Amino acid sequence: MTCKEAFKQISAYLDGDLTEELKNILNEHICKCAHCKVVYDTTVKTVELYCDGKLFPMPQTISNRLHTALRRKFQDRRAV
Ligand SMILES: [Zn+2]
Repeated sequence: MTCKEAFKQISAYLDGDLTEELKNILNEHICKCAHCKVVYDTTVKTVELYCDGKLFPMPQTISNRLHTALRRKFQDRRAV
């Protein structure tokens, strides 16, 4: 998996539609890629903060803000 693909999966995680299979692939990538690990950890923490560990959709405004922040992080790095 490339960083670009990892970014897509982290985005999917934000939307709550990351499958177990993809989660495993993503985990493999973040074990090897420190940058994506930081982004992933931050995203997970933010989601947990808002959702309190429960499965319900995040308010659209927060979700949009997170997506924008994620995109910026990856663009800054000029991910391959
Ligand atoms: Zn990466």
